[in-house]
Amino acid sequence: MRKKIIIGNWKMNNTLSESISFIQALKKNLENILQVDIAVCPSYISLNSVKEELSSSNIKVGAQNVYFEDKGAYTGEISAEMLKDIDIDYCIIGHSERRQYFKETDYDVNKKLIKLLEYEITPVVCVGENISQRESNTHFSIVKEQIVQALNNINSKHISSIVIAYEPIWAIGTGITATAEQAEEMCNYIRNVVSSLYNKEIADSIRIQYGGSVNSNNAREILMMPNIDGALVGGASLKEEFIDIVNSAI
Ligand code: PEP
Repeated sequence: MRKKIIIGNWKMNNTLSESISFIQALKKNLENILQVDIAVCPSYISLNSVKEELSSSNIKVGAQNVYFEDKGAYTGEISAEMLKDIDIDYCIIGHSERRQYFKETDYDVNKKLIKLLEYEITPVVCVGENISQRESNTHFSIVKEQIVQALNNINSKHISSIVIAYEPIWAIGTGITATAEQAEEMCNYIRNVVSSLYNKEIADSIRIQYGGSVNSNNAREILMMPNIDGALVGGASLKEEFIDIVNSAI
């Protein structure tokens, strides 16, 4: 039985003081929920303070990005070792905004994934098609290629510790959610791709989230689907609505 996992991606929002006061409200409301894994991903500036605020909490903390080199002359980048040093639990990689605005490639995603596994930080690997790919019916092959590339050279023993987030780009921040059936169809497809790369038992162990305009009205229907193990939440994770979304996963 896969435990559901709800992750809030705060993106480039919340100053340090805003992050702390918001996390205090979340902590109070979510402290008794142990049936669902919960995490928030603040900006780098707030990461350490949020982690300290949540030190003995059930709410875990993730980063929104990492660089795959260990150290050196990479101005502006953050290493997996630095994240591990402050006990970061998760790290989002391959988010469509990073692919689109910062030219992150499938090759980068694979190298980041390998580095995160080395430091025992759970990678949250984002995949998903854009609207023209869906309309031209190439969305399955696009997502398959993203998965195959991301998992290149990843040993089967690591697969169950990876989270995959299916995030159709046309649903991110648009208010247009994939229907629960569309989301389930792709998450099921992703599981089959993982099964063909490894085996069914391994595919059944990996958690696959849906992300794209999830809110407190649509979360329950999406999270009821058999192959959807949680949600990656952007906009609604910046509001107390996030509490209702987590409760929808119970
Ligand atoms: C995201 O950016 O990962 C996301 C799903 O955003 P939103 O929920 O705002 O669509």
